[in-house]
Amino acid sequence: MSADAPALVEAPPGFPPLDELRAGVLAGDRIMLARAITLVESRHPAHRRAAEALLESLLAHAGTAHRIGISGVPGVGKSTLIEALGLKLLDAGHRVMVLAIDPSSELSGGAILGDKTRMTRLAAAEGAFVRPTASAGRLGGVAAATRDVILLGEAAGFDRIIVETVGTGQSETEVADLVDSFLLLLLPSAGDELQGIKKGVMERADIFVINKADRHPEAAKTAARDVRAALRILRAGARDGWMPPVLTVSALTGEGLDDVIAALACHRAWLDQSGEGEARRRAQRRRWLKEAIAEALAELWDRDPDLAAERARLEHEVLAGRLLPRRAARELVERRLGTYGEKARDG
Ligand code: GDP
Repeated sequence: MSADAPALVEAPPGFPPLDELRAGVLAGDRIMLARAITLVESRHPAHRRAAEALLESLLAHAGTAHRIGISGVPGVGKSTLIEALGLKLLDAGHRVMVLAIDPSSELSGGAILGDKTRMTRLAAAEGAFVRPTASAGRLGGVAAATRDVILLGEAAGFDRIIVETVGTGQSETEVADLVDSFLLLLLPSAGDELQGIKKGVMERADIFVINKADRHPEAAKTAARDVRAALRILRAGARDGWMPPVLTVSALTGEGLDDVIAALACHRAWLDQSGEGEARRRAQRRRWLKEAIAEALAELWDRDPDLAAERARLEHEVLAGRLLPRRAARELVERRLGTYGEKARDG
């Protein structure tokens, strides 16, 4: 371990010592990376400090990858596209990590993304790491877990990190908050369905890709035209200076995939030159901090033994409909933080 690394806390039982884990991750060792991912995804309170210590010790080695989000409805061709793109990126000398966020996993154990055998060629390739479903156990949800896994992947030397999510309206926004470039994959019928795509999603996507152009070439062209027209209206007067390209591809035949790679590179260059890339990451970190605070407070509420009696009383009143949840939350904060809580409220 290098002299500048912070002292590590002890590894939980069943895990290698943290300096070994750290060195293994930095060396790009897959087994160590998988162990580290298990540790940071764990919901076990005893694992939390070790996970934090490990992540903190790797922080200086993270942040350098191009983080790419890819979203779309089930069946649009996400895994086909990601596998094909991933193999091309490997050929170009990149190291590629693919993480899948399955919004259904919190309820059903990952039915949408988890039960298929996906991206087998990419998963077997040297230089790629495919992780089917991020753990949904944590309080902060899948997004929080994915964030930590991105950090580990970057420390392990992956320079292209693709985060896949099933389009649900909500999950696109979540994935956009995790990445630098957000690509929305659409079907050739997208033109007819534009109304069904949430405005917030249209606003967040950086690149639009109409897939399955091999099977429906005319429909794909029409869809691209319709999306462009919608974007001109939606983004008219937008100050950020990036007009999202709308591409038509076939993930199956590979037609158009080089254009997708070029568009991603172009977007990244624009992020760097305009300062928007750094602004995005800062805004993301600010949001994550707020989420982490909410998570820590929720945990205080769930677990702090000193609050047990008070919690039971407040919960009883809230469940009976006699007390507002927001009032209960304020009382909790004041009880724990004393005058700080009051100052925060009054100031
Ligand atoms: P996902 O659910 O979004 O990950 O979609 P998949 O990648 O699993 O693809 C769903 C189906 O569409 C599969 O049968 C693919 O072979 C097929 N598919 C994907 N991309 C294309 C394409 O560009 N053209 C054609 N004709 N079929 C495709």
